[in-house]
Amino acid sequence: MNESMKQRHRVVVIGSGFGGLFATKALKDAPVDVTIIAKTNHHLFQPLLYQVATGILSEGSIAPPTREILRGQINAEVHLGEVIDIDIKSKTVTSWTPSGTLNDPYDSLIVAAGSTQSYFGNNYFAEHAPGLKSIDDALELRGRILSAFEFAEIETEPDAVEPWLTFVVVGAGPTGVEMAGQIAELAHRTLREDYRRIDPEQARVVLLDGASTVLATFGDRLAAKATKRLKQLGVDVQLGAMVVHIDEHGIEIKDPDGSVRRIESRTKVWAAGVAASPLAKHLANQAGLDVDRLGRVPVEDDCSLPSFPEVFVIGDMMDAGVPGVAQVAMQSGKHVAKIIAARAAGRDVHLPFKYVDKGSMATISRFAAVASVGRFRFSGFIAWLMWLVIHLLYLIGFKQRVTTLLHWTISFVGGGRAERAITRQQVVARRALDTLTPAQSGRPDRVRFPRR
Ligand SMILES: Cc1cc2nc3c(=O)[nH]c(=O)nc-3n(C[C@H](O)[C@H](O)[C@H](O)COP(=O)(O)OP(=O)(O)OC[C@H]3O[C@@H](n4cnc5c(N)ncnc54)[C@H](O)[C@@H]3O)c2cc1C
Repeated sequence: MNESMKQRHRVVVIGSGFGGLFATKALKDAPVDVTIIAKTNHHLFQPLLYQVATGILSEGSIAPPTREILRGQINAEVHLGEVIDIDIKSKTVTSWTPSGTLNDPYDSLIVAAGSTQSYFGNNYFAEHAPGLKSIDDALELRGRILSAFEFAEIETEPDAVEPWLTFVVVGAGPTGVEMAGQIAELAHRTLREDYRRIDPEQARVVLLDGASTVLATFGDRLAAKATKRLKQLGVDVQLGAMVVHIDEHGIEIKDPDGSVRRIESRTKVWAAGVAASPLAKHLANQAGLDVDRLGRVPVEDDCSLPSFPEVFVIGDMMDAGVPGVAQVAMQSGKHVAKIIAARAAGRDVHLPFKYVDKGSMATISRFAAVASVGRFRFSGFIAWLMWLVIHLLYLIGFKQRVTTLLHWTISFVGGGRAERAITRQQVVARRALDTLTPAQSGRPDRVRFPRR
């Protein structure tokens, strides 16, 4: 066969998050053709989702279209679709779109489908306590949070006002701390003068966790600083508190002494747990492997699936002794791209993946954050400035950086929030869609996707 007739090495990438996008970009100059398949048309900067949920940022600021990001990369195609099957024996990925299923054969596969919310087996919690993993989640939460103030304002029964003005965030990791801090600032600062009958400053924000500390992975010193700052903001931090039931009107909690109590609250946010995409189990089943307790699939030291060197699992889906953070996804994405590029160029390489920990940070409120970088610990304004610069640097897209900076100026220097519009669709339509069976939605259900 002459050289020009030889088919180029086909790479299929599942997911346009940190792992999938960085892998695709790193293949720009490789002799390969890349098809990136994702169920959203955008790359999502998840670390700022809580700011969409609390009216600081618009969804477009943190979710640039994947197609636009890859406009200049001629060896990459973008397909919108939900992957419903991966056949690692016949090397084919099947995805579902409303107009039918698509089959994409591959020579190399990168699976970067991330993780979903985990309710630790209590999936019915989801209806009353949405998590925060997608733009849909953030807009639904924004709708619920802002609607709660509206319903409190028009409530005629005095006892019914308090549950509307009580916000419970479950999970005191970075996302929970950030959500609780921002709901407190929204209520106590932004909305302070906007209502006639209620006083938003009286809103109660409760942050619950079954553990004995907030921000457990940041160490005792930063956890103590974060707790102090949360309390200054008026957040009621309740630790050792296990959620045992959630319904429309409230939440039930089991305390360390075994007693169960109830908080009446109309607005609950779930920030307590994650589980790998169900595609991880789908791959593990075919490869004869077990997933770990987070649903992640074990991988070889180069991120490939054992016995399937052409299949790579990266980011939140891989069980490789590394945390589920953006840096792991980006670094593992670039790493597997390097291996694929070398193989496509005819070199057989084996490169073990080495994660470089660049630190972690969480904001608590405007001008207050905590950061852990190597041996160093930062808190307060310095940590907040570091957070601001790093997030701006990693945010993808010039337009997104400019609009984010503008919105931050409005919110942090002034007290306003530019994104307070909510629609009925945002609050209720998704729940209606999610209750559709596969037959009603037209989507075959080959992988068991969680339904809410
Ligand atoms: C609210 C929140 C805040 C966070 N804050 C931080 C932080 O401050 N710092 C930090 O380092 N990390 C943070 N993280 C974690 C970080 O975002 C993840 O570790 C990272 O996004 C993982 O990258 P990934 O590529 O594995 O998955 P993701 O970025 O989640 O991407 C998954 C992709 O797969 C697609 N997908 C999923 N299933 C399918 C399917 N069946 N078919 C097609 N496409 C599919 C999705 O649409 C998406 O494009 C945060 C996460 C959340 C949710």
